[in-house]
Amino acid sequence: MRILILSDIHANLEALEACLEAAPPYDLVFNLGDIVGYGADPNEVIERVRQLGKVFVRGNHDRACSGGINLDGFNANAGLAALWTQDKLTSENFEFLRQLPKGPLAPMEYVELVHGSARDEDEYVLVLHDAQPLLMQAAAPLTFFGHTHIQGGFSEEPNNHRWQTLIPVYRSTTGKQHFMFHLRQQARYLINPGSVGQPRDNDPRAAFVLYDVEEGSITFYRVPYNIAAAQKKIYAAGLPDRLAERLVEGR
Ligand code: ZN
Repeated sequence: MRILILSDIHANLEALEACLEAAPPYDLVFNLGDIVGYGADPNEVIERVRQLGKVFVRGNHDRACSGGINLDGFNANAGLAALWTQDKLTSENFEFLRQLPKGPLAPMEYVELVHGSARDEDEYVLVLHDAQPLLMQAAAPLTFFGHTHIQGGFSEEPNNHRWQTLIPVYRSTTGKQHFMFHLRQQARYLINPGSVGQPRDNDPRAAFVLYDVEEGSITFYRVPYNIAAAQKKIYAAGLPDRLAERLVEGR
């Protein structure tokens, strides 16, 4: 079985379509949240991901855009985008977002899905120091998380207490590229597929992961997409300019 893992699409339809086109054949899709917020195509993206599968964990922007969160904790651009999105959403899509489940979710044996972390859906797991307690307490050997928009992850081999930060290595930030590794028996992992619609690791390409269960492998992907088209829609929508500009920077 091969599972496509998507996170932080953020209403970027161009990036989502590029990922789906570039993805190898898959049997299932897991979505780690923040389907909307920031981008200009919330309804289109929700409808597209609902065609792909049923496994979703909610993100903070999904909550913000469906009235489930106080926007005081959001920065100005995120707050404006959440209000814009609330206004744009059809009532059906608003309701879909409102009912998304809180993580952690255990969709299959050995696997957990979260937006931020298993203990706090809004936690940013950015460095190994953040990941260590989570790996030690993990309910499953393999946790997929999002929220930081940074592709990669962390691992722990409990036998020898070996900790590692996993960073996919690409030759450049252009073209379609992937980076594969095999999961080790006994080890525990936190894996972030990166953000489909608003990468923040200085690589503007859309990001996702393919998990091959039988092979025990994780493949990170980066895919170029039509950034100019996504930007044009953000400007035309009257969303903050910064939300368009940052797509080119990948941060
Ligand atoms: Zn996000």
